[in-house]
Amino acid sequence: MTDYPAQPDSLDDQDDTPDPIDSLFPVSPYPPDPRNTLYSWRDLYPTLLRVPHRFSHSAFELFHSCERKYDLLKNRHIGSTLDSEPDSNRNNVHLDFGTALGAGIQELLLHDNLDQAIWVAMRNYYYANETSNKNEIAIVNALIALQATWDPDEWEVVANELSFKVVLDPATQDYYCGYVDAVLRNRHTGVYAITEVKTTGYKMENLEPMYSNSPQGIGYSLVLDQIVKQLGGVASWTILYIVVQLKSKHPIPTLHLYPFEKQKKDKLEWLLTLQLDYQRILQYTELQFWPKRGSKCFTFNRACPLYGICGLPIEGHEGNEMIKKEDDWSYVFELSDLIQQQMERE
Ligand code: SF4
Repeated sequence: MTDYPAQPDSLDDQDDTPDPIDSLFPVSPYPPDPRNTLYSWRDLYPTLLRVPHRFSHSAFELFHSCERKYDLLKNRHIGSTLDSEPDSNRNNVHLDFGTALGAGIQELLLHDNLDQAIWVAMRNYYYANETSNKNEIAIVNALIALQATWDPDEWEVVANELSFKVVLDPATQDYYCGYVDAVLRNRHTGVYAITEVKTTGYKMENLEPMYSNSPQGIGYSLVLDQIVKQLGGVASWTILYIVVQLKSKHPIPTLHLYPFEKQKKDKLEWLLTLQLDYQRILQYTELQFWPKRGSKCFTFNRACPLYGICGLPIEGHEGNEMIKKEDDWSYVFELSDLIQQQMERE
């Protein structure tokens, strides 16, 4: 009779000494970031019939540019196979640069310490690629320019690093979410301001029209009513765009500060627009028909990466089985409540 080696009774009995080859790749001493852990969506949302749809300002911008492109990139995840259309957070030169710059600017507004702001920006710069104008030198120069322009005696930071989600439909838990870099208060006038950090490669001198009617800052102002709740909400406030204008093959960007005053009616308009856009997306989803916008096939001097394939019966993969947990939101709202509240205040 053949002698077989004894089998362990349970996993606990198994020898878990790593093979020698493992020592070539030592285990990281740092615990894995729990935010990157993937879970079965059914475990996270056991009472729902599908994964909640997550919307953001950039997702709606994509939707407004071309509904077909939105469906292919966001719902079917075709973008992850296209080099020129990064659909992930990994090695995205624009995202990496923006994240680091935003962290540095936030630090500078908080503590008015340039060295510390540069240090924070560099610690947050997980760059795999750099371009001739999106690199660490541009970040440092942008922070130097901001410190030279900024008057810390005029503005104080009353809150920072806030996140929120607006539940669009309680039955599906579909939601819109946003992240606010900093909420400021003018020390002299008492006016509140929501800051938005933007970068652009556009060459024109006056960039104001790009931002004055941008919906992003208005949506993010939802958190303002929570912060100044005891005062009954704010009647008007400022959205302050801090715009870093990058120049081609030039390491010194130009800094612009664009403050825009907003009223309560702007917030109501934003909420109604959000509701209508969401309903359109639900209709397209039900019809399984997503219009093609031919005027957007060639923009920013290049063809859309889906050009030539967006009319094909592309399967893609709908719905993620494994997803990340939602963030711990600073504020959670329901869209119907927000619309009701704003209408009562009008
Ligand atoms: S090629 Fe044109 S129509 Fe097709 S997805 Fe791109 S922008 Fe839309």
